[in-house]
Amino acid sequence: MSSTNIPPSGARGLVERDSQYLWHPYTQHKTAALPIAIKKGKGALLWDENNKEYIDAIASWWVNPYGHSNTFIADAIYKQLTTLEHVLFGGFTHEPAILVAEKLMEILPKNQQKIFFSDNGSTAVEVAIKVALQYFFNKGEKKTTIIAFENAFHGDTFAAMAASGISFYTQAFQGMFIDVVRIPVPVKGQQQESYDALQLVIKNHSCAGFIFEPLVQGAAGMVMYEQESLDELMRICQENNVLTIADEVMTGFGKTGKTFATDYLVEKPDMMCLSKALTGGTIPMAITTFTQDLFDAFYDDDINKALFHGHTFTANPTGCAAALASLELLQTNEMQANIIRVNKSHLDFQELIKNHPKVTTTRVLGVIFALEIKTESSASYYGTLRNKLYDFFIENGVILRPVGNIVYILPPYIITDEQLLKVYQVVENALEIV
Ligand SMILES: *Cc1c(COP(=O)(O)O)cnc(C)c1O
Repeated sequence: MSSTNIPPSGARGLVERDSQYLWHPYTQHKTAALPIAIKKGKGALLWDENNKEYIDAIASWWVNPYGHSNTFIADAIYKQLTTLEHVLFGGFTHEPAILVAEKLMEILPKNQQKIFFSDNGSTAVEVAIKVALQYFFNKGEKKTTIIAFENAFHGDTFAAMAASGISFYTQAFQGMFIDVVRIPVPVKGQQQESYDALQLVIKNHSCAGFIFEPLVQGAAGMVMYEQESLDELMRICQENNVLTIADEVMTGFGKTGKTFATDYLVEKPDMMCLSKALTGGTIPMAITTFTQDLFDAFYDDDINKALFHGHTFTANPTGCAAALASLELLQTNEMQANIIRVNKSHLDFQELIKNHPKVTTTRVLGVIFALEIKTESSASYYGTLRNKLYDFFIENGVILRPVGNIVYILPPYIITDEQLLKVYQVVENALEIV
């Protein structure tokens, strides 16, 4: 591996100390390269313990649009921490939570009227799925099937995992899940197949809800499909009294060029899941949003009809302060201009690279760019190729995590033109080594 993993002489380095006690996510510790110890971040840049510089071209798993160590968000957090850091949300409320709700009501689709706080993307999905199931239970109807896309990713807790279709995340738990039926993603050429599959699933099962990543499947490798297809699928659900859940955990807060991917749609979902960029990559927090109709199905003299779900840190005021500051940043003209700038820049790079002999397809939406590399399609080859690319990017000071043969870029919006050009250059150079 690269020299970055060698600890500074004389002291036990961070990487060595890490390996004694820490268990990392999505990591086979026996075969994985050692982690890189990051000491500092600023804007789109990170520095490791040997002061090697990296461009964070994936916004640290898509959470950080406004840059690392953002002082505007940090100041808001400090102010909140020294005013009211936390208070339980059962039986109590506070202004930061109310302000987040009021702010979201200005920018969410108009049919979204209630918000529920949790801690991360998976729990936001968990809440949405439980609400879909209990909605029908409360109405005395038995509807227990959830519909999801092939290769979806909705998180790692149990219901979220059940809805996810990427097999290596879930294979140890098959047979232990809630009932989920999968339909094809309506990518070009496969739209009718997707509509037909949905009709058939609804006919043959008692479907409570349909959960989807709107327009872009992130973890699948930034797989994109058209707004018209999703509108059609949502119409089919509405006609059949199946609730729709837009998982905007990745796509939310500007990534697709609009505030929410759902903003491209004619139809509006019954629920939305938000997290990742919600707090600008500072404090873990998530929100599930609902229509009034959903809330009303739980509003009753019967306590059993209430939503008995909550987390200790629900609506943590510090997290709310971070969310408010982040939303404020998102709405500045400067940030909106950044999103447009990154998108234009991606489109230019797409023009440049799309006819490269080693590239099969390219796609761009908002600040998301993806290309697929021509391969002999075997799974082990994908694994080797992925690692080779990853190592090459790291050696060249760019953090990108390819998915098999797919290389995607999803930078912080504030990335400079110069940094973006370096990312493109490194991606182009990587095509020469595969
Ligand atoms: C990341 C992600 C999740 C899970 O969020 P966590 O915070 O990792 O639990 C759910 N849905 C989508 C679309 C995601 O991209």
